[in-house]
Amino acid sequence: MNKTMRAAPQQSSAEDRPDAAPASNFLRAIIAEDQALGTYGGRVVTRFPPEPNGYLHFGHAKSIILNFGLAAENAGTCHLRFDDTNPLKEGVEFEQAIAESVHWLGFDWGPHRYHASDYYEVLYDFAEWFVAQRLAYVDSQTPEEMRATRGTLTEPGRPGPWRDRSPAESLDLLRRMRAGEFPDGAHVLRLRIDMASPNINLRDPTIYRIRHASHHRTGDRWCIYPLYDYTHCISDALERVTHSICTLEFQDHRPLYDWIIERLAEGGKLERPLPHQHEFARLNLTYTVLSKRRLIELVRDGHVDGWDDPRMPTLVAAKRRGFTPEGFRLFAERIGVARSDSWIDMGVLEDAMRDDLNARAPRRIAVLDPLKLVIDNYPADRSEDCDAPNHPQRPELGRRALPFARELVIERDDFMETPPRGYFRLAPGAEVRLRYAYIVRCTGFERDADGRVAVVHCEYDPATKSGTPGAEARKVKGNVHWLAAAHAVPAELRLYDRLFSVPFPGAQGDAGDEDHDREDEQDAGASYLDDLNRASKRVLAGLVEPSLAGAAGGERFQFERHGYFVSDFHDHFPGRAVFNRTVSLRDSWSRPR
Ligand code: ATP
Ligand code: MG
Repeated sequence: MNKTMRAAPQQSSAEDRPDAAPASNFLRAIIAEDQALGTYGGRVVTRFPPEPNGYLHFGHAKSIILNFGLAAENAGTCHLRFDDTNPLKEGVEFEQAIAESVHWLGFDWGPHRYHASDYYEVLYDFAEWFVAQRLAYVDSQTPEEMRATRGTLTEPGRPGPWRDRSPAESLDLLRRMRAGEFPDGAHVLRLRIDMASPNINLRDPTIYRIRHASHHRTGDRWCIYPLYDYTHCISDALERVTHSICTLEFQDHRPLYDWIIERLAEGGKLERPLPHQHEFARLNLTYTVLSKRRLIELVRDGHVDGWDDPRMPTLVAAKRRGFTPEGFRLFAERIGVARSDSWIDMGVLEDAMRDDLNARAPRRIAVLDPLKLVIDNYPADRSEDCDAPNHPQRPELGRRALPFARELVIERDDFMETPPRGYFRLAPGAEVRLRYAYIVRCTGFERDADGRVAVVHCEYDPATKSGTPGAEARKVKGNVHWLAAAHAVPAELRLYDRLFSVPFPGAQGDAGDEDHDREDEQDAGASYLDDLNRASKRVLAGLVEPSLAGAAGGERFQFERHGYFVSDFHDHFPGRAVFNRTVSLRDSWSRPR
């Protein structure tokens, strides 16, 4: 599993379909085949089924882009269905955020917004039908007894004492369960399939449990709740979904998915053609964690500043970080869709964001760590405009004026008192071009009381102004950016880096340890917290060019030589400039650090 990919999509091994297409689009191939065969009469209906118990993460983005994308490519529809079967953990706050994130990624479900809880009544009717058919029974064993008779991966299970309970007795108990006569855990409803099946999912799976809990949508109407495996396939079938696309961990659940809806179709309860489940590899991304449980922990225990902390791999955080929906779609296209698990390097996502932003982010100047520079032969009472393009390759984005004056600021590390060989920036006696302005020569510097360099002195050559005739005649190697001290606007610059300092936080990664109905969520490796990158957030008091003071929240820029930045949605407003770094200009993590 710990094989990481940087760019090319991983190819799947030969598959159960003889004409298996390349991994990057095997789902496209399956749909094309169904379209050609007329399996669904030309309909393509997919769905994205989040559980409203947390915020969406980058893995969900892959699933959203896939499901909505496949529907769109086939003039079909994609449903947004909240899989709200666990009243204890779910809420409307999450539903709202999930819907917003799907919209943000650029997708719309139209009128097809559903809830699993919309189907509680019909799910329950079907449960009574299963009981009447002797295909389900109420089991009154304790959870321990049920575990003991369930068998293991290598041993078959055994029938429990209630397996042959009469339908009449089961029906009576089921109705009393629903009526609230029993405490949590007293009974469960199980399908009657095969206790000896090699597939544990078919060993009489539980489909209803008693849970005296209020649900955010159905209130106290129910005290029994259906489980995921039962709810999901029926919801798909009721919505006439054609292609039910999910992650690989559900592969072993597919026989149960099919068993349930086949029986109901045979019984005339569901219409054919039935949906089919297809599995793809979940997204595993290095230097982060994509597990709701861990994301909840990071927020709850204050390791980050909330769900939308720009370091989080959530979509609300991505937006605040300045990541773009287009960048996510580019990323999804580049990584493709495989049928076996692999890891994707975070650099692949960052590169997608860089490539998208490079094409469209206007260029601006920011000085992160200002050092004063005085041009001694420039008149104190003068200032002039320098002309800078908003984008080096896209003249249609226009140009802007940068005020130039005697007193400027440059980056502190663009000056060195005793430079090493190959340092082409400012040093005593050295010449550089002030980008979009003049060539200057360093004539000296001053220190402050602590011995730190406080002011750099230069002289400029008036014949070298960028853009004027003959200005480029004299060549210099160094090219540094600057701002006029009197015009620059103070700004808070937040530099974000990867949340974890190692590719596989907690060493084992966390793929595959999620289970919808797992109650005993043991922490598989709390040590992932030890791998948090302590330098993942740095806040600098810098200066930005005057035009940025008027930026609205959420505007994206390239700050030349520093990376892509976005004005912060919450904290940036007139009178306070706050910019978050989305991503640096180059991948600094691919080099040894
Ligand atoms: P987690 O595993 O992080 O707790 P989840 O799978 O329980 O998340 P759901 O709300 O059930 O979260 O997920 C909704 C959909 O998103 C499901 O179809 C699921 O398969 C898909 N999904 C979840 N995680 C990933 C991932 N890492 N890569 C691709 N798809 C994912
Ligand atoms: Mg899940």
